[in-house]
Amino acid sequence: MKEILSSLRDYFDTGQTFDIEWRKTQLRAIIEMLEKETVSLSKALHEDLGKSAEEAWLTEIGFVQHEARFVLRHVAKWARARRVKTPLFLMPGRSRIQPQPRGLALIISPWNYPAQLALSPLIASVAAGNVTVLKPSELSPACAKWFTEMIPKYLDPKAVAVIEAGPEKTSELLKEPFDFIFFTGSTKTAHYITRAAAEHLTPTVLELGGKSPCIVTNCNHIKTAASRIVFAKFLNAGQTCVAPDYILVEEKLKPQLIEALKTAITEQFGPENAPNNFVHIIHKGHYERLCNMLNHGEKILFGGKCTPETLHIAPTLIEADMSHPSMQEEIFGPILPILTLTETDAIGQALKLVAEHPTPLAAYLFSDRKEDVKRAKRLICGGFAHNDALMHLTNAHMPFGGVGQSGHGGSHGQFGFESFSHMRSELLQSQLDIPLRYPPFTESAMKWLRRFMH
Ligand code: NAD
Repeated sequence: MKEILSSLRDYFDTGQTFDIEWRKTQLRAIIEMLEKETVSLSKALHEDLGKSAEEAWLTEIGFVQHEARFVLRHVAKWARARRVKTPLFLMPGRSRIQPQPRGLALIISPWNYPAQLALSPLIASVAAGNVTVLKPSELSPACAKWFTEMIPKYLDPKAVAVIEAGPEKTSELLKEPFDFIFFTGSTKTAHYITRAAAEHLTPTVLELGGKSPCIVTNCNHIKTAASRIVFAKFLNAGQTCVAPDYILVEEKLKPQLIEALKTAITEQFGPENAPNNFVHIIHKGHYERLCNMLNHGEKILFGGKCTPETLHIAPTLIEADMSHPSMQEEIFGPILPILTLTETDAIGQALKLVAEHPTPLAAYLFSDRKEDVKRAKRLICGGFAHNDALMHLTNAHMPFGGVGQSGHGGSHGQFGFESFSHMRSELLQSQLDIPLRYPPFTESAMKWLRRFMH
């Protein structure tokens, strides 16, 4: 490991990665790799998670290609120094902000979107001119193997290294000094990562999870709302960081919403308890954790079938309350609790209930009432969608990231580029010297200085 890191650092020191053409070549290589190796990557995603080729393309391969093309188009502009204003007392100097690569970056990625969540930060890292270690999740081994084989084949092997490691080996890796760590995973693991990063004062971006609420009040488009909630929740069998974790629905809308959700599940995923092409749960431990959330006095409204042989859990709707086990932690699976808002001020009740949980990665509101949308501005959360769910993350013009317990720092597009960059302040001063700035500070000098700096 030490050897790999030291040769990456040596390469960084040559200055090669500062070159914009080099960065563009790496981005083109990522696009080409995904183009040429679509079939093998699709196969790996199927092996690890049972993803269909269509879902693999939409949520991973196509998604990353889109991101890479977007960054390729803009990287030269983002990497350029940006002129900013200069105050009078620094005249006739000029000021600018010059993005610089941070150096040696470490990307630690999870298993749930193994390609997207490894390659999207890698795009940002190479675009920003870093040398990079990519540490994929050991829980998606087919994809990890694919990275080990393909990345050195397509990208500059002197600048990008893949290290396969489980938690123990990753802890060893984290003892080494990195210049930046981009971590995607659970809040629990984020504690280990930040503790290790603190030893070297290494800055981090943490892309974590949490319980993303979905609030339904004063909604006249229940059918559309249900279709969007079902898509966002059951995609990847609920193993999506921004999936609606639970629904808070106004009492009078509940029966209609439940019926619409059942219809939408059947339309999108197939018959109750017999879904087609449905992603399986990643491993036995996670499967058991999810199954153990059921049979605690909740009412199963739809689904509920668990198949231990294949680790499948069918899309499941349950009626529950705040004390139910599913409301005690991030679900991260295809179980959707529906909770009732009984107070006349439904939106007020929802906002209060959400605030009782740690700050979520996303929050969704389906409502046709302007006042509800206005009041939802108070919700502290990583991202927000009105009348939609999950789709906000597909817009590369917006930062994607959490707040508080759901993480910090941004990814996607320019926000990812800036996370992987250091924004160096540059003052370009002329030789013209003004004696006022040097001691001794006479009374008249102070008078002028006070005036200039006002
Ligand atoms: P995880 O925290 O278990 O693992 C993530 C990575 O950390 C893996 O590469 C793993 O090998 C490594 N790791 C695990 N334990 C470690 C330890 N003790 N020391 C060092 N490294 C360790 O997370 P996961 O189960 O892979 O992913 C699920 C979680 O990730 C959920 O909470 C989900 O919400 C979150 N997530 C967030 C985003 C986002 O973009 N915000 C995206 C996907 C998933």
